[in-house]
Parts: sequence; structure tokens; C-alpha cells
Amino acid sequence: MTTLTTRPGIGEQASLLAHYSDPDTCPTDALTPIPLVEEPAFISWQQDIPREYLELAPSVLERRIRSARAALGSRLVVLGHHYQRDEVIQYADFTGDSFKLCQHAAAQKEAEFVVFCGVHFMAESADILTPPGVRVMLPNMAAGCSMADMADPDDVYAAWDEITATLGDSARVVPITYMNSTASLKAFVGEHGGLVCTSSNAGKAFAYAFERGEKVLFFPDQHLGRNTGWQMGFGLDEMALWNWRRPGGGLTEAQVRDAKVILWQGHCRTHQRFSVEQIERARKEHPGVRVIVHPETRWEVMQAADDWGSTEKIVKAVSEAPEGSSWAVGTEINLVNRLAKANPGKTVFCLDPVVCPCSTMYRIHPAYIAWVLEGLLQGHVTNEIRVDADTRKWSLVALERMLALP
Ligand code: SF4
Repeated sequence: MTTLTTRPGIGEQASLLAHYSDPDTCPTDALTPIPLVEEPAFISWQQDIPREYLELAPSVLERRIRSARAALGSRLVVLGHHYQRDEVIQYADFTGDSFKLCQHAAAQKEAEFVVFCGVHFMAESADILTPPGVRVMLPNMAAGCSMADMADPDDVYAAWDEITATLGDSARVVPITYMNSTASLKAFVGEHGGLVCTSSNAGKAFAYAFERGEKVLFFPDQHLGRNTGWQMGFGLDEMALWNWRRPGGGLTEAQVRDAKVILWQGHCRTHQRFSVEQIERARKEHPGVRVIVHPETRWEVMQAADDWGSTEKIVKAVSEAPEGSSWAVGTEINLVNRLAKANPGKTVFCLDPVVCPCSTMYRIHPAYIAWVLEGLLQGHVTNEIRVDADTRKWSLVALERMLALP
């Protein structure tokens, strides 16, 4: 078990953050459902969808999806992540964050098909957790995650070799990967004594790691790693940032040796947009507002908020709040809009005045769902996600360690 050192105050910590700033932009897309043909950029991501699906009106798609769903009955389970648009989430048998959906996937022993309305790494996890006979499909294969893409497995393996060579045999590093990563990286952490975590259980995953080692290598989201490390009592000066674009991660050997937590330099473009200025403006314009943010936001944003947590925690906090309360929420806009609709007696709004959906989640359009479901009726399994046996073996170990966390 590691010993935590006394950390400096928040003011001193803030100066350590200057080099973490990595302003990013996020294009804002219309949220109103329109035929896929009117979203040409979305078609270009998966060009083999048959032409007939492109021009179908939303009402026709809805009818065809409901009809296919009814015909498939209990053979089919549809999972929907909170960040999916309403036009997609309406078809989900189960909704949730990646942890909850992971549990639902693991519980699917009877269904033949799982259609995952989320992004690629989630469908991979569903394939790993379901029995081999269950066929998992992702309606649009281009629905990835830009954060997961920031941790290329070869870069992580190289970083691991460099870090462990620097430390020698004297220190034990436990790797933790956020759920938002490829199956190969989940297998890597499984094979090296580590585990997977989500934003719901990152603190418990850190506790697991520090019971078994002296340092954590956390990827791919630097913000979740830093926010979790902070909550565990580590100072910012005990957390080093590994810049995978630079030799040696841009760190000296002493920095690697001294760090308790080594953070991968990845981030979520959607959550990194939230700022302290937005929180200050929300407080000024809505006196008494409660600010709750997702832990993928920057450290200084989490410090300025009243509360933070996974999407499940955000949903619970807002849903259980008293009527008349006001909430400024720092997470993806589709979830915030849904929360606002479900809580008409409360003021619920997104911290970011420029709405920004997760552009990769948004690639799941109802036209792709209709295509995949009607394919099943004709005996075709479209866009199946299959994880090879070796990768599956170790990634299952890493996922099961997470699911067994207290
Ligand atoms: S919200 Fe961010 S982390 Fe989540 S899927 Fe989208 S890009 Fe990835």
C-alpha cells in the first residue's frame, strides 16, 4: 500500500497545470433528425449502407425499426449509451453509462444479437463479456472515440517498456485503462496485473492498484486520471504527464521515478470544452445554481464545480433534486437535453452555451439501425464486432477485475 504525501494547496497546484492546457475545438452539429442523405459527412464514414436507407424520412425509419424489432423479439437486445440522441435512445432496451451497459452486456445469456448504440470500444467490451454465441453489432463502424484513438497500443507498449526500464525491478507499476480504449489495451492491462475502470469506479480501481503496487500508469484520459488521483489524495506534483508524441514521454528519469501516477496525454474533445469561466457565468446568471461536471473535464473545472461524477451519478443527482432547483451540467448535450425534458420542474442546462454533441456517438443514425435490423431479418449479421480469442482472454480478466470491485 502506498503512503500518500501531504500535497500543496489548490492555488499552488493550479500553476502546475499550465502545460496541461490543450485548447480544442468541437464543431457543432444540428441535433434535429433529418434523413441521412442530408448529413453527407455522416454517410462518408460508412459508405456501404444501401442507398435506399439514405433518403428515408424519420417517420418511415421509425416504423421500419419498430417492425423489425417486433419480429426479432427476445432474440435481440439493443443497448443505448446516454450520449445517443433521442431518436436513437428510444429503441434501447437498456440505457446507461459505459459501466452500466457493460453490466447489461454481461447479463445477456439468452439473446442472440446485441445491437450496441454507442461507440466502438463499448461494442468490443460487450463482445468480450457476452457468451461466444452472442453476435454484437455496431450500427455504424465509424462510431469510434477520439479519446480512445489517442492511446495507440504500440505507443502504450513502448511507454511501458521505457517506464519499467527506468524504474528497474524496484518499483511495481500497475496499469489501468479507462473503458474508453481498444480491446488490445484492456488485454495489456489484464496481462500486467491491472484492470479496466469507468468514470463510475475509477477511485476503486486506483485503490485496487495501490494495494498491489507503488505507481499507476493510467490511460488514455489524463483528466479522469488526474481528477481521480486528486480525490485519492495525490498532489498534482505527484502526477506526471506522459506525452506520447515525445521521446521518453517528455519526462526526465527523475520525474518518472518520483511520480505516483503517470497520466497518458489523452482527453475527450467534448468534455475538455468546459471551463471555469462557464461556471462563473452560470453562477452569475443563475444564483443558487448547482454545478455538476463529468470527471473527464479539466482539473480546475472540477475544482470550481459543486459536484462531479459519472453520467449515472449526474442523472441521479438531477433526478433526485428538489423541484425548483437549478443545475448547470458539464457533460454531453444529448444527455443534458434529456435530463431537462425529464425534469420540467427544474432548470437544467448545459454549462457550454455552444452545444456540442459527441460527434462520434452522433454517427449512430436511425438509418443505420434500420439497415442492421432488417439485415438480421434477412439472415445477415451486419457490422459485427469480434474480438480475437487471445485479446478476449486477457481483456476479460481486466474487465472482470473491474466488475468485481467492491
Ligand atoms: S464523449 Fe468523449 S470520451 Fe465519450 S465517446 Fe465521445 S469522444 Fe469518446
